[in-house]
Amino acid sequence: CGIVGYIGNQDSKEVLLKGLEKLEYRGYDSAGIALMSGDGVQVFKEKGRIADLRNVVDYDLLANTGIGHTRWATHGVPSQTNAHPHKSNSGRFTLVHNGVIENYELIQNEFLMDVPLMSDTDTEIIVQLVELFVNKGIDVEKAFCQTLELLKGSYAIALMDEQNPDIIYVAKNKSPLLVGIGEDFNVVASDALAMLQVTDQFVEIMDKEIVIVKKNEVTIKTLAGEVIERNPYRAELDA
Ligand code: GLU
Repeated sequence: CGIVGYIGNQDSKEVLLKGLEKLEYRGYDSAGIALMSGDGVQVFKEKGRIADLRNVVDYDLLANTGIGHTRWATHGVPSQTNAHPHKSNSGRFTLVHNGVIENYELIQNEFLMDVPLMSDTDTEIIVQLVELFVNKGIDVEKAFCQTLELLKGSYAIALMDEQNPDIIYVAKNKSPLLVGIGEDFNVVASDALAMLQVTDQFVEIMDKEIVIVKKNEVTIKTLAGEVIERNPYRAELDA
């Protein structure tokens, strides 16, 4: 299972799909990508191999921002519906997640009784919770942090918001996630291997941090909002 993301000036589809192929060694049963264009976010996902996903992607759709996922099902059978990315009910937010949310049923019962869920995953409650908090008037970054504070378990997450198309929000806890630094683009990946195709500069993300990834800027913060400075390192190219 793995996560990739791209935000920049180029079309993101090939970077995302190639990145997912580099993560195939981690094992998976489904794969998907979400592409942000002028028309909002479009999700393409399939049970099976990246090759199957390639068959359903709209290659005419140009998108400078996108996120991708390979799933190793833990909650909910491998299926197209349970494959990531997952959208919030309004369609505004789109999210990928690796890991296990141990308290997803508790969260569902406490916060999301009135929110219909589309999948059987432990993941979907994350994106629905972000939307719930935003609908209460909380800004997106705070809503994301509040959501993360409630989660118990492991996660690497990438989140897109149609109303803030110049940002990919990411966070991790006990699951790997790196941010790759480029010129006029930045990327996200579970493993540097996935993004050596475009950069060898990576920034480590620690547990319980969030990262605001823009094409020319990467801001790391604690969940409490304190900004953290961290320099990139150079990944070995012979991987
Ligand atoms: N627990 C999530 C699911 O079953 C994510 C699994 C993964 O890490 O790929 O959908």
